[in-house]
Amino acid sequence: MKTIGLATAGALGLFALMRMASAGDAAMGDKVELSTAAVVPLALAQDTPVVQQARQVPPQQRRRWRYRNRYPGPIPTPEEWRPPEGPVRIGLQVGHWRADEAPRELSRLRGNGANWNGTAEWEVNLEIARHTGAMLEELGYSVDILPAVVPPGYRAHLFLAIHADASNDPGARGYRVAAPSRDATGRASGFVDLLRRTYGAATGLRRLPDTTRRMRNYYAFNFRRYEHALHPMTIAAIIETGFLTNAGDRELIIGHPESVARGIVDAITEFPITPPRGGAPR
Ligand SMILES: [Zn+2]
Repeated sequence: MKTIGLATAGALGLFALMRMASAGDAAMGDKVELSTAAVVPLALAQDTPVVQQARQVPPQQRRRWRYRNRYPGPIPTPEEWRPPEGPVRIGLQVGHWRADEAPRELSRLRGNGANWNGTAEWEVNLEIARHTGAMLEELGYSVDILPAVVPPGYRAHLFLAIHADASNDPGARGYRVAAPSRDATGRASGFVDLLRRTYGAATGLRRLPDTTRRMRNYYAFNFRRYEHALHPMTIAAIIETGFLTNAGDRELIIGHPESVARGIVDAITEFPITPPRGGAPR
């Protein structure tokens, strides 16, 4: 399982953008060892941040920012799109993990994320991502564990952002799954439907019928606004695995990350992506 970091992203940023404009090619990213020392400032009940421009920015500056399109090129059609070479590549993003490394365009990520009794959300998300990644690799998939900031030029067949919810109401519970509000692949909602079913079946958690605007407009989906975002042809989704602030949900998402991972893996194996080299998983 490869852990993707941002160590080289700054220097590679422009280069990666040029590559992005020329052709879809293999995923990039240097292997960075996990740092358990990564300290992310915590804030309660500020989950799944959507990074937006500051209201107080002078109009002149705001206009310039708005019209700077980070993805000016035409979006490839599904026929033109060249996914990464090799086995099916799954990007599992650990919500809020290493958010303190966020570049200026995503500076609002720093310090976000739920927290319960000294456990930061990113720790829970990371544990789930590791279990999910291990199960997927066993099935022949190629897996990247991604931090909160997506490296420019990153390529995968499928991307899932993993988060946990929080609320001031300890009775609030359940999971939600959302697709990007603008989906060039046309396939994200199909994956989301699958995941809603398999996650509920594997965990027994309640599904919340609503999704939030923050989920649908998740910053990593916004390739026009951010350089550190997914390629538009990445099939993407986001899951709020449960509420850290609810005892029942917590018992599952912290106590049984393997069940949580099973719920995610089942959706991925059922979803018809290009099969991994050596045969379809199922
Ligand atoms: Zn979150």
